[in-house]
Amino acid sequence: MNAPLTLTDILAWLREDDPARLKTLWARADETRRLNVGDTIHLRGLVEISSWCVRQCAYCGLRVDNQSLTRYRMEPGEILESARQAVAFGYGTVVLQAGEDFGLTCEWVADVVRQIKNETPLAVTLSLGERTEAELDAWRKAGADRYLLRFETSDQALFELIHPRRNPDAAGRIPLLRQLKQLGYEVGSGIMVGLPGQTYESVARDIDLFRELDLDMIGIGPFIPHPQTPLGTGELKPVIEPDEQVPNTELIVYKAVALTRLVRPDANIPSTTALATINKRNGRELGLQRGANVLMPNLTPAKYRKLYEIYPAKACIEETGSACNGCLRMRITAIGRQIAQGPGGRKRHAQERDVLC
Ligand code: SAM
Ligand code: SF4
Repeated sequence: MNAPLTLTDILAWLREDDPARLKTLWARADETRRLNVGDTIHLRGLVEISSWCVRQCAYCGLRVDNQSLTRYRMEPGEILESARQAVAFGYGTVVLQAGEDFGLTCEWVADVVRQIKNETPLAVTLSLGERTEAELDAWRKAGADRYLLRFETSDQALFELIHPRRNPDAAGRIPLLRQLKQLGYEVGSGIMVGLPGQTYESVARDIDLFRELDLDMIGIGPFIPHPQTPLGTGELKPVIEPDEQVPNTELIVYKAVALTRLVRPDANIPSTTALATINKRNGRELGLQRGANVLMPNLTPAKYRKLYEIYPAKACIEETGSACNGCLRMRITAIGRQIAQGPGGRKRHAQERDVLC
């Protein structure tokens, strides 16, 4: 049996470039994945329900200052229709994602969740940014099963720089993750790798934090510069020693995914769309062969999909939900894996349906 990885081990692996040594890392991550979560791949249908956002994240194309973006908010009926499509395609989960949009009120979201839960067998995952405890509690009570909120980087100073606070008293994302767990959600988080100013050491600490927070789901993608953002234009350029800067390459993302599988053997780990964007040919497959066990096919209606431009040249932007479904099934079969049935959570949670907004 292998000893648990220390922070020093994680850091050494992140800096490892010998292909023969890396092959042993991929094999160890793949075997750990197989032993702990099996050979099946969970499909979570992603619906990008609103591109409105009040935040100023220096990395994201949805930031409020990006005036060149046409904003949309889906109607509840359209979201229900996407959920029905998820059922028709055999997905076990629907993920409702959006900017921090306060047009998505507590009651509105609770109603949508309740309708999906009443009408379908789907697990519902929300990814709506930093919302109040009352809202998160009401949505959980309406039937939401999971919540995704990436902490993006555990380097507090860097995070404050690239994700300015809206409210000086806000708890921040890491305390919010603990709160979500207490509310009974399955909790997902994650990071971008290759942010300007992000060090190898801080990525090693991020991976160690995945272990400490005992996360159910962990998403890791490369940072992809967006030309309408301060990090994309270079207007914001955190100062750092060049040999400390972690690159935003696919290789470093595979290393982070593999190491995450080793520290959190039974977590659900997606092979992310951002990874598929920087290697459209087989980035998804390589992620799945180096520790990941989840894919998130896009179910956002075609007319909105192009508008949810968090970074440029996003994978699957032109496809329909049906095309994404067919393409991902083919890719899964080609690497000898199977598609999982059912919601595919890490554990079951009791559900309550009374909502108090
Ligand atoms: N607003 C919610 C939030 O911030 O948690 C959910 C939507 S946000 C677009 C989802 C994720 O997109 C973020 O957590 C971030 O990791 C990722 N993202 C944003 N901009 C990105 C970029 N330029 N490159 C790669 N990923 C990015
Ligand atoms: Fe808004 Fe989320 Fe993008 Fe930040 S990352 S600007 S909160 S959508």
